[in-house]
Amino acid sequence: MTAPTIVWLRDDLRLTDNPALTAAADRGPVVLVYLLDDDSPEVRPMGAASRWWLHGSLRSLSTATGDQLVLRRGAAETVIPQLVADTGAAAVFWNRRYGAAREIDARLKSSLRESGLEAQSFQANLLFEPWTVRTGEGNPFRVFTPFWRAAREAAVRAPLPVPHVDWAIADGDDLESWALLPTHLDWTAGLHESWNPGEEGAHAQLESFVTERLADYHRRDEPAVEATSRLSPHLSFGEISPFQIWERMHGDLPAAATKNVAKFLSEVGWREFNANILFHSPELAEKNYRPAFDAFPWAEPDPRDLKAWQQGRTGIPIVDAGMRELRHTGYMHNRVRMIVASLLIKNMLIDWRVGEKWFWDCLVDADEASNPGNWQWVAGSGADAAPYFRIFNPMLQADKFDGQQKYIKRWVPEFGTAEYPESIVDLAASRREALAAYEHVKAGQ
Ligand code: FAD
Repeated sequence: MTAPTIVWLRDDLRLTDNPALTAAADRGPVVLVYLLDDDSPEVRPMGAASRWWLHGSLRSLSTATGDQLVLRRGAAETVIPQLVADTGAAAVFWNRRYGAAREIDARLKSSLRESGLEAQSFQANLLFEPWTVRTGEGNPFRVFTPFWRAAREAAVRAPLPVPHVDWAIADGDDLESWALLPTHLDWTAGLHESWNPGEEGAHAQLESFVTERLADYHRRDEPAVEATSRLSPHLSFGEISPFQIWERMHGDLPAAATKNVAKFLSEVGWREFNANILFHSPELAEKNYRPAFDAFPWAEPDPRDLKAWQQGRTGIPIVDAGMRELRHTGYMHNRVRMIVASLLIKNMLIDWRVGEKWFWDCLVDADEASNPGNWQWVAGSGADAAPYFRIFNPMLQADKFDGQQKYIKRWVPEFGTAEYPESIVDLAASRREALAAYEHVKAGQ
């Protein structure tokens, strides 16, 4: 009997195009494990919406394996050696991740090897590994366009099919015992209506995008138009790989859709860029990427104003629509994400980290790289960021991108009635204050 190989899943909850699983299955029996690690300081605890998604994704994966997915709780450095002992495994494989938690992986790899086991990691979740994309001088890129131009020069491998797996048996937890779903006051009805977590749901989403929405992708900035892929949570949990998306975009497409492929792939490129930035700056959610922003005089948030922003009661219709979409569905249209973030940071002068944390809790696609990366992009403190002094006027943004107010009326039905609140900010005065505050950053540059 060949000793089993443990495949430790993290942000790669799929059976197709899973290099660690394919390599393990080639060697012999496989123990497939997912760990809920609330203990390691390098692992950012998931927010509530992500925990909801994780529950659905694990259930779907477990079903796809005929209930062979093993669930264990605790830090990998304790639980994986325990699982090795329980199963007599000779090897542990996983797909690489790129944030602070990769320190755990590096330590685990060394200690497993010291104990005589084989430990191997694989490229699965990024088209281009961060250390392979470098400027002519050998440095990491700080600007997107040259990054993406250089990255694309490397060949992109074809996705792997689902392997035939001989499952090895191991004990694990019952998914329900993890209590990932809210226990009292179930607020997840809107999430259920909007999403189908799991690998099958991810591929259905890609197909519907290709056949129904890609042709309209040039209208992706209009929140009332269904023009984007809505693949972000599926990508965050690794239910679909960027290699599968890349291949689909180079396959058979409706004629009207082909003109939008390069733009769509460049958005996937922004995901790669943010992962690249995180790889080189693991504290992206905590620290300004551009240290000059450390001098920014953020206001102490007024709890009532902050709550109005979080609950979509600011009196600024496009902002309220976005914040309500977020709370109801765990998602917000990209253009509107920029608008609500700009209001918080620039008109309310609240530290971007406060908004980032709220998004982290509410988004089903909350991503360790893309969430802080984009918040810092809006703040002006990030890589290749929008300049701070370019302050969105949310009313003009709404006129431009939701001219018929379809999106606003969908989420804010009381807009235009006496029920709707007055704006909590004076847009013109707060704009002037923001520009004055920015002088502190300019002085440090
Ligand atoms: P599409 O337009 O169909 O794009 C395809 C894929 O490209 C997306 O699924 C996503 O993986 C990637 N992508 C697109 N735009 C971006 C971008 N600006 N940055 C990085 N990747 C991108 N995206 C996340 O995946 N997770 C987050 O936590 C997140 N937080 C954000 C916070 C703010 C303040 C802002 C302004 C943007 C944030 N984004 C985040 C980026 C973007 O809003 C979402 O990726 C996009 O709205 C997802 O919808 P879609 O899948 O239909 O996108």
